[in-house]
Amino acid sequence: MQKLKVVNPATGKVAALLGADDAKGVKAKYERARAAQPRWAKLPLKKRLAIIAKFREKVATQAERLAKVLTTEVGKPISQSRNELRGLLPRIDFFLAETAKALKPRRVSNDAGMEERISLEPLGVIANISAWNYPYFVGANVFVPALLTGNAVLYKPSEYSSMTGLEIARLLHESGVPEEIFIALIGAGDVGAALLKQPVDGVFFTGSYGTGKKIAESVRGRMIKLQLELGGKDPVYVCEDVDVAKAAAGIADGAFYNTGQSCCSVERIYVHHKIFQPFVDAFVAEVKGYKSGDPMDEKTYIAPLTRAPQVKVLEAQVADATKRGAKVLTGGKRGKGSYFEPTVLVDVNHKMAVMREESFGPIIGLMSVKDDAEALRLMNDTDYGLTAGIYTTDRKRAEALLSGVNSGSVYWNCCDRVSPKLPWSGVGHSGVGLTLSTYGIETFTRTKAWHLRSA
Ligand code: NAD
Repeated sequence: MQKLKVVNPATGKVAALLGADDAKGVKAKYERARAAQPRWAKLPLKKRLAIIAKFREKVATQAERLAKVLTTEVGKPISQSRNELRGLLPRIDFFLAETAKALKPRRVSNDAGMEERISLEPLGVIANISAWNYPYFVGANVFVPALLTGNAVLYKPSEYSSMTGLEIARLLHESGVPEEIFIALIGAGDVGAALLKQPVDGVFFTGSYGTGKKIAESVRGRMIKLQLELGGKDPVYVCEDVDVAKAAAGIADGAFYNTGQSCCSVERIYVHHKIFQPFVDAFVAEVKGYKSGDPMDEKTYIAPLTRAPQVKVLEAQVADATKRGAKVLTGGKRGKGSYFEPTVLVDVNHKMAVMREESFGPIIGLMSVKDDAEALRLMNDTDYGLTAGIYTTDRKRAEALLSGVNSGSVYWNCCDRVSPKLPWSGVGHSGVGLTLSTYGIETFTRTKAWHLRSA
């Protein structure tokens, strides 16, 4: 059997050798899921809800151990791994509370002996190819509503978070999800590609734009549902009327939390010229206060990058920016192993990769703008469109600007935020389709239209 080597990013040591799938194994797993799915779909919803409620309880009681596994394999600071597990519970609660309502058949008319009704049917067998940066969040956004709505799920966790993927599978099975209804596939991109060769009914992908594009190409012409939740280059604009210290602290956290490895990390900051210097000073002071170190240490805020090759991407962005005239105010260099210093750049512009390409690390550029119109133009000058935020005391000004921003989510006086009650989606290279909210339940179903004449 092939093996997948899991390396602890903080120590460089092998944390586990996992049995990996090959193309033949992937096909066999698909066939098992296909054969079992109709039985799962026929199970009364109440039973599926009870199973997922049990899964929630298991996550809650085993959270500390699961957090340690997550930190071991992705290097996330332990306090942030705990936050992820804590944050998973209200997401599951949302789906538990809303699925019955979302799935209720709707009678839309009943006129002169003709009844018209809409029902929502499961898609069937779906492929869920997932990312490592928030494996519980991005995984559960798909597999919880997909299972509740009666689908079988072939789940390909990232090769960087496969221990967590196997924990998720174990907890679901122990909670009562049949083993053939939720199946983990272990391996790297080749296993994801083998999964896409199977005749699945839907593909739900979370990952980079580059891989998302390959996936879109590989399922082209198949007439199946395709959802792609991809990267971002998320901007924030800080107006001149804010409390500078408070805004700087909040936005720095939005940029550097999870060591900058969030799809909705703040990646570009525009500041009104009237407060540019005080804002930069407060921002740099905040970033210099971050503790970098052992991810298992409760006080650590900046951890190693999960994927060692990303260090080179950040080095190249700093080199490109400084060559074009940017100034490094703090950081700018690699540390030991896959650590990278929290980095703040000024004198940046949109010719620089750091202001155009997803950095996915602890690095940020700040730019002074002359007015709201310039800020809006720069915010929209991107291929991506995941989130965008405005900081101001003036709600009308914020709403006027945010209505002109091309992104799936917009924020006023907050950033780097996800709510289970709101849809999560992107524009442009940030993807197609959505998860979360009641739309993120319906998305795992297809509609059936019933035309029923009584005589
Ligand atoms: P990635 O694109 O490198 O990998 C994602 C998944 O795709 C992995 O499971 C990988 O094994 C698989 N894969 C790779 N090549 C494949 C192929 N040819 N066919 C099928 N599967 C293949 O992304 P990553 O490094 O795991 O995640 C980071 C990226 O994900 C960032 O760009 C981040 O912004 C994005 N992300 C987006 C969201 C969102 O909700 N929009 C959430 C989290 C992460």
